[in-house]
Amino acid sequence: MSASEPSAAESEDAGHPGARGAGRTPLVAGNWKMYKTEAQAESYIQGLLPRLSSVERVDVAICVPFTDLRAMVDSTRGSRVEVFAQNMHEEAEGAFTGEISAPMLSEIDVYGVVLGHSERRALFGETDRALAQKVPAALAAGLTPILCVGETEEERDGGDTERKLRHQVHEDLAAVAPGDLQRVVIAYEPIWAIGTGRVATPEQAQEAIAFIRALLSDRSVAPAGDPEIAARVRILYGGSVKPENAQELLALPDVDGALVGGASLAPESFAAIVAAAEKALA
Ligand code: PEP
Repeated sequence: MSASEPSAAESEDAGHPGARGAGRTPLVAGNWKMYKTEAQAESYIQGLLPRLSSVERVDVAICVPFTDLRAMVDSTRGSRVEVFAQNMHEEAEGAFTGEISAPMLSEIDVYGVVLGHSERRALFGETDRALAQKVPAALAAGLTPILCVGETEEERDGGDTERKLRHQVHEDLAAVAPGDLQRVVIAYEPIWAIGTGRVATPEQAQEAIAFIRALLSDRSVAPAGDPEIAARVRILYGGSVKPENAQELLALPDVDGALVGGASLAPESFAAIVAAAEKALA
């Protein structure tokens, strides 16, 4: 990844929260979920890399099953694609059958890890309490966490979106050391838009993401809360992003990229979303 963290020059550029002048390089991350054997992953990456050859200003990541990590790290070396896991345990080691730790991921050159995806929260009981430990554990191991937050349809309809986002941001980032906040990527994923084909309107996405950025500037909500740091944190939108809707979403001032599920499974559509992210910068 060419610029996952802002360079010194870019950091000096940091303006008000939401300003692209803050040097936030857009990130388009594909979340494969439980799809692709190692052989399928190899064939995918051979299809993807040539399609990204002209990409210059967008970071690209694939978030793959554990069994694909090592092969994808090897196959993407020297490219602009970084490899992320989809989960990890908060402890570095221990009697936790079936789990994987942050040092295990970083030792094999995995770049980062998705944490708090709504499927893990809803189907596997991932709690904000565990996430409060996972985020700093990932950072301590040198991994870039992509922390997912978002409201259910019921919460949105009940006017509870901001309360839910505030709660998740407050709890999940509570133990992040001052100075580390800008290494965290946040993905705003309204749960009602994940895998449903329903996409947030540009207004809904911009409003929620600007709200999250405002939370990050508030010292009582985010550790090291500070407008300058908040302006450097990348916040992605996720939820039914497709080549057809990507450019409009990614052109929004506070939206720094996308976490893409279904449309990341084919190299053609994923590369088209990366291309849309580059166009949105124009
Ligand atoms: C996701 O899995 O994080 C996601 C956003 O999925 P989809 O793009 O399929 O809605």
